[in-house]
Amino acid sequence: MRQPSPRLLIGPRAGTRPGPVLEMRADRIVAALAAFRAAFPGVRPFYATKCNTHAGVLRTLREAGCDFEIASVQEMEALSGAGVPPGELLFSNPVRARAQTARAAAAGVGRFSVDSTEELHRVAEEAPGSRVYARLATYGEDSVVPSEGKFGVDVTGAVRLLLEARELGLVPYGITFHMGSQSLRPAALLQPLRDVAHAMDRLLHAGVRLEMVDIGGGFPAAYDEPVPPLADFGRAAAAGLARLPYPVEVFAEPGRCLVAEAGTFRCRVIGVAERPSGWWAHTDLGVFHGLMEVLESGGHLHYPIHDTRGTRLRRCYHLTGPTCDSQDTFARDVLLSADLREGDELLIGSAGAYTSVYASRFNGFAPPRVVLI
Ligand SMILES: *Cc1c(COP(=O)(O)O)cnc(C)c1O
Repeated sequence: MRQPSPRLLIGPRAGTRPGPVLEMRADRIVAALAAFRAAFPGVRPFYATKCNTHAGVLRTLREAGCDFEIASVQEMEALSGAGVPPGELLFSNPVRARAQTARAAAAGVGRFSVDSTEELHRVAEEAPGSRVYARLATYGEDSVVPSEGKFGVDVTGAVRLLLEARELGLVPYGITFHMGSQSLRPAALLQPLRDVAHAMDRLLHAGVRLEMVDIGGGFPAAYDEPVPPLADFGRAAAAGLARLPYPVEVFAEPGRCLVAEAGTFRCRVIGVAERPSGWWAHTDLGVFHGLMEVLESGGHLHYPIHDTRGTRLRRCYHLTGPTCDSQDTFARDVLLSADLREGDELLIGSAGAYTSVYASRFNGFAPPRVVLI
């Protein structure tokens, strides 16, 4: 039998083939990009590709005029397929395998982040003459998925790296930071921007003038609880940027806030059971096939979840995936139809970011299909 074309899978037909589907709405992605631009006037968005690498998502953002940030050569190649030339990318993963830098440079990538002397030397060797930007550490994070201190240097470290870059024949290009994903505090942008201003001052005294400041990502998407409006983050950024010692180009690397709300998982109940711990609904989608961020956030990320049965009488369920792993539970105490049963459809909203990209084949279950509407 011929496979139906992806277009035919849209809407009600998506449910006719077995297995969970992530539906991405192109119009919502375009609207989210417009909302970001409105909240951050004068800031150029570089979408954090890792968030959702579906070709249709990348093409939608490209056609809407968005730029891109990558963490790997593989992402660079995916973007080439969507018509984005490597020369336009930012390579913002501050520690790369040597071959990654070499292959990216050979393809035309010319901008690399660094947060160590060791990496700086690797860039000088594998991508001579390229532009480098230093990654500052952020502290006292207030984000749902924090970066746990994995990356970044302090102001003195950033100044040292960018001065040494000049000695190594690289171009000291800019400074970046990342406040931690799903930030709920606009003021989280202020201290990093004070650090940026401080570093720019010190570099200017040493004769180095930067071209850009990159305020990173971490801007929140709405899940089941309200989040501060993007405009509040835009105002905080503008306040911090106004205090920089001289004008620079300003970039940002939004990921989640551009694609999360555009995505809805459609999955199915495979069984319902009453246990001493309560009522459980088992579904054909779980932590290991798209809902990993529930674990990463320590259970703090709550997706909006509905069933399509719509019975007025409600019952509280714990929702768990199809595997035999106890860590596969992705929601607790969710009110759904009291007569929920095998075959019913569940809709999991705000699922466009950090979901399908994490999916494994654990226990033999295929990763969810992704379709663009
Ligand atoms: C993951 C990442 C982003 C995107 O973060 P969001 O929280 O999805 O906005 C931006 N920049 C860097 C360097 C990243 O690693």
